[in-house]
Amino acid sequence: MALKAAYEIRCVCGAAFAADSYEYVFAEHDPHLRDAILSGEFNRAACPSCGRGLPVGNRFLYRDEKNRLWVWVCGKEEEPKRAELMEELIGKDAVIEGHFLDHGEDYRKFLVFGRIGLIGLLLEEDRALRRSEGKRLRERPALRWIPEGGEDPAYLFLAGNKVRVAMPLKSPEEPGSLPASAGERKRWLQWYSRGLNLHNPCSSFLNRRMRKGWNRIRQEEGACGGGDEFEDFAGSWAAYRMNAKRFRERCPERSAFFDGLKGLKVSRQVRSLRP
Ligand SMILES: [Zn+2]
Repeated sequence: MALKAAYEIRCVCGAAFAADSYEYVFAEHDPHLRDAILSGEFNRAACPSCGRGLPVGNRFLYRDEKNRLWVWVCGKEEEPKRAELMEELIGKDAVIEGHFLDHGEDYRKFLVFGRIGLIGLLLEEDRALRRSEGKRLRERPALRWIPEGGEDPAYLFLAGNKVRVAMPLKSPEEPGSLPASAGERKRWLQWYSRGLNLHNPCSSFLNRRMRKGWNRIRQEEGACGGGDEFEDFAGSWAAYRMNAKRFRERCPERSAFFDGLKGLKVSRQVRSLRP
């Protein structure tokens, strides 16, 4: 049922090899692929020479008949082209074509970026998945990985029953600021991970009203932190916890919003994985 194509992969170790990439997943007919998407093994291949896990391919289409979802999943790096991709892939002229597809017009069409974007959407739109994963995701501790020396990327890991996600932690990037010392950078990443734990695409503790408020502030106050709404939240949270006074001067609305989150109930702890 699923469609795949062969890709030529070049690993950083220099080895080149061919691997298959799925370009179309039909959730009801390919449950193993759906599980692989949730767990992170989807469209990845191991380099036969050095064993590194590498992503294969780019966009794919996810079709869920039960929930009538038709989702284009683009690469995270394509996000700046959102408007054009909307037009091209799910605009009114975009044609839905699929195998054994009747009543294609009943489907709701979405565009998301990256696997985590898809999981976030499914947790909202697929009630069975939300029932089976939501509670676990909220209660199991998130694990934080910050390598010593800070060369490798740092991550926050979330796990449900089937869902596994690794979300990158981003270093401070205030224009004109001095490069942070290793200790400061580590503290920043720790606060960043706590911000990401509060609000991330898969399992946020902000309710609908709070999330609306946050996005309104992002529009009104402009670029205090960069990235999408989650990266902005985590980066702003880190800046707020590192130096509340300075953050309040720079981003008063965000600061007041965070002050208002003091009593927020967060059932998921963040635990550190020691390098
Ligand atoms: Zn390799």
